Amino acid sequence: MSDNASELLAEVEAEIAKACKIARRKVHEVTLIAVSKTHPAEAITPLLDAGQRVFGENRVQEAQGKWPELKERYDGVELHLVGQLQSNKAEDAVALFDCIHSLDRPSLVKALGKAMDKADKRIPCFIQLNIGEEEQKGGCAVGDVPALIEQARAADIPLAGLMCVPPFGIEPAPFFALLDKLARDNSLEGRSMGMSGDYPTAIMLGATHIRVGTALFGERGG
Ligand SMILES: *Cc1c(COP(=O)(O)O)cnc(C)c1O
Repeated sequence: MSDNASELLAEVEAEIAKACKIARRKVHEVTLIAVSKTHPAEAITPLLDAGQRVFGENRVQEAQGKWPELKERYDGVELHLVGQLQSNKAEDAVALFDCIHSLDRPSLVKALGKAMDKADKRIPCFIQLNIGEEEQKGGCAVGDVPALIEQARAADIPLAGLMCVPPFGIEPAPFFALLDKLARDNSLEGRSMGMSGDYPTAIMLGATHIRVGTALFGERGG
């Protein structure tokens, strides 16, 4: 995996550069989040050695098992939470993560606001949208976004932007375009969208943060 890791990273970076060129955007406008969920520390260190510093995890507990030690060994690591967050894990999340992509409901605004007050630390958060209005999917309904923004601001939670995971198996471009429009309408800068299968499309439609797992680490086991 070691040599492979830097090769895969170079491939993804080349794809990012290509998409940016087509879209007439600058590569530094797009942050690559390497989603390392399910992968052990041994699979992550080759990417750290290759210079990657921004990583994503989707479970607080799993991240607590891997990242404190890796953060100690490598300078400048930035850790993003890209998965659903239970309110009772808000304090743990604020302690470990540098950014949260799954703010999606008033109860979580409350829990995160409180956790940030207690830790005396403000963590930028993306509001996650249920952009395809899917029944069992996490995320705030599109119509509820303005209210949630207002609540987050009242709780002094810094808002990074909007995040989505479009419905599986259909063309994602219309959903990316919708997220971009909603971000613009609400004067939010960040657009967290695009995964291994569709990040070039997301970049062309305005993504500022892409969340890439499989293309960097290979298939997840299980
Ligand atoms: C796992 C995950 C990703 C990465 O998905 P890949 O298809 O492996 O690139 C991105 N975003 C979220 C929210 C995830 O849970």
